[in-house]
Amino acid sequence: MMIDNQSVREEVKQIFTEYLKKHGHRKTPERYAILDTIYSLDGHFDIETLYTLMEEKENFRVSRATLYNTIILLLNANLVIKHQFGTSSQYEKCYNRETHHHLICTQCGRVSEFVNEELQHVIEHTRVGRFNMSHYSLYMYGICSRCERANKRKMTNKLQNSKK
Ligand SMILES: [Zn+2]
Ligand SMILES: [Zn+2]
Repeated sequence: MMIDNQSVREEVKQIFTEYLKKHGHRKTPERYAILDTIYSLDGHFDIETLYTLMEEKENFRVSRATLYNTIILLLNANLVIKHQFGTSSQYEKCYNRETHHHLICTQCGRVSEFVNEELQHVIEHTRVGRFNMSHYSLYMYGICSRCERANKRKMTNKLQNSKK
């Protein structure tokens, strides 16, 4: 699916402006720069990655406190969602994004995404009582193909060494 990234970036800016106005927060250039950086990223990121990106790529110095603070505003404005992948907190943009699920490697921490329409259908038609669901995501834990290959290689080496 092709999405026009430029118009998404404009739309989220408007939504954020509304949100800031409604809740009496200041519309600082730092906050908009953070939002725009997040919406130019693909996939997941943690605060440190974002901090480095803001510093290097965007050449926009913001403190970690400002980052945390802005992330909380973006979470409340439903423009970003937070994930807990094992021990690491990661974030991703969520406006105009397809529902997707996550495969998390317990060995290297790599996270990949997948989409499954059947799953989506089942979950969205599951009766959950009086509960207004805003979003959901499935986390599957296991060993990624890269780690599996590395593990097999290690095992083979061990076997060969023990034969000598
Ligand atoms: Zn792995
Ligand atoms: Zn994701």
